[in-house]
Amino acid sequence: MKRNNATPGNEDQYKQKNSKDSLMDNEVIYEFGGPIGAIGLILFSHFIMIYLWVSLEFHDGNVFYPSGFTDIWPWLVRVFGLWYQYALPTVESVKIYGTFILIEVLLAMFIPGLKIKGLPVPSENGKQLEYNCNAIHSWYILLSLVIFLQYFKIWSLASVIDNFAPLITTAILGANILSIILYISAFLTNKTHRMSGNHIYDFFMGASLNPRFFNIDLKMWAEVRVSWALLFFLTLSAAVKQYETIGEISAEMFIVVLAHFLYANACHKGEHCIPTTWDIFYEKWGWMIIYWNLAGVPFVYSFQSRFILKHHPIGNGAFLNTILIILLLLAYYVFDTANAQKNQFRMIEYGTYVKRNTFPQLPWGVLENPRYLNTEHGNKLLIDGWYRYARKIHYTADTLMALIWGLSCGYSHFLPFFYVCFFTGMIIHRYLRDQHRCKKKYGKDWEKYCKIVPYVFIPYIY
Ligand code: NDP
Repeated sequence: MKRNNATPGNEDQYKQKNSKDSLMDNEVIYEFGGPIGAIGLILFSHFIMIYLWVSLEFHDGNVFYPSGFTDIWPWLVRVFGLWYQYALPTVESVKIYGTFILIEVLLAMFIPGLKIKGLPVPSENGKQLEYNCNAIHSWYILLSLVIFLQYFKIWSLASVIDNFAPLITTAILGANILSIILYISAFLTNKTHRMSGNHIYDFFMGASLNPRFFNIDLKMWAEVRVSWALLFFLTLSAAVKQYETIGEISAEMFIVVLAHFLYANACHKGEHCIPTTWDIFYEKWGWMIIYWNLAGVPFVYSFQSRFILKHHPIGNGAFLNTILIILLLLAYYVFDTANAQKNQFRMIEYGTYVKRNTFPQLPWGVLENPRYLNTEHGNKLLIDGWYRYARKIHYTADTLMALIWGLSCGYSHFLPFFYVCFFTGMIIHRYLRDQHRCKKKYGKDWEKYCKIVPYVFIPYIY
């Protein structure tokens, strides 16, 4: 395959050919409903974490709401009263969360890894930042450490779930403090980028593009190593607690442990594909991403494992559980290979592709001589592999996995399905944002691509 002009080694041509990228990189547009939407999302994101915890602890995991208009205030006072009474940070919660963050920082700083160059950054005169992709090694070191501590009874992972309530607030505070520090330091170091001038919106979307702590790209670090690793350890902690309480790990608990392991593992093993993605190239590191990486993803997405812990036995039965495991593995296969096909196609195009033997390497993850569409922009668009059938089939697979997390909790309650509802809304919004951006970037070539691959989520249906 011929290499694209936007190769990392070809910065002058990059500047000339991708002035469109540069224009888009500087263009300020209000997304997420602008400043009002940002305030709404900040409030919602805090509230939902507390609400889900109160529901599981005090309402048996049921939806609960004010009985009428006049009850709204007393209802809120009660919810926040419970939070204030039981969920303020403790020495233990700060120790657990702080130790986890510290270990992740040290591993990211000192473990050798694969060096990958990102795309030339328009706002830094086409400079290419280097990324030390050592997440997979850090991930296995961390897993071994936890297993060692657990096996030799030095520290039990169950203490994480035992401290869940104060941990929520510790994570919320940590995420907010870090967001404020990052926002102010972007001004102090003159690293602000694509600012709207509205502080609320800019704080929400972020001020700096690629903030670094020594050699660590904080945005990539948090996306891969904090959110998904913490989610997995929270779920594993629920499994350990279940084992300590009833002497076994239920099939339903096994399903969520497997699901969260696969997801966290996929993020770590695919870290080297991330430096050339839109998230790194374009998205700034603001409150939205910081909060959801440091607090939202682990503490909201782990609802199912805590639900299963509290509602044993779920009673799905062997047949349904087997179906769920098979469906989970199939959905994961599509999710993993679709992401791998596109990311590795892009890496080959940018000249950053490196074959890695990280587990699991699935068949059809890398396409040999795939068909693609040339564009005026210079980038190529893949129209082969999964991308022959639907443009966002990996979103569908991800949504199916989210549904399986919910189904592993049975059908008696709605809240285990909150995640799949939330995820569906979020991913559709993400699709619309991406569609909008790609239309702008590729113009009529994007329309051509959409004609060649007309389906978005489900082949031959939509
Ligand atoms: P994509 O992986 O679909 O990336 C979109 C970008 O890929 C486009 O902007 C374009 O960028 C490039 N692209 C699109 N189509 C093609 C093509 N045919 N050929 C080559 N390049 C193409 O989206 P995301 O980054 O949103 O998602 C990645 C994964 O992460 C998904 O599986 C998603 O489900 C998951 N995810 C999960 C979340 C969660 O909370 N659980 C949150 C967000 C995502 P360009 O042309 O500029 O290279």
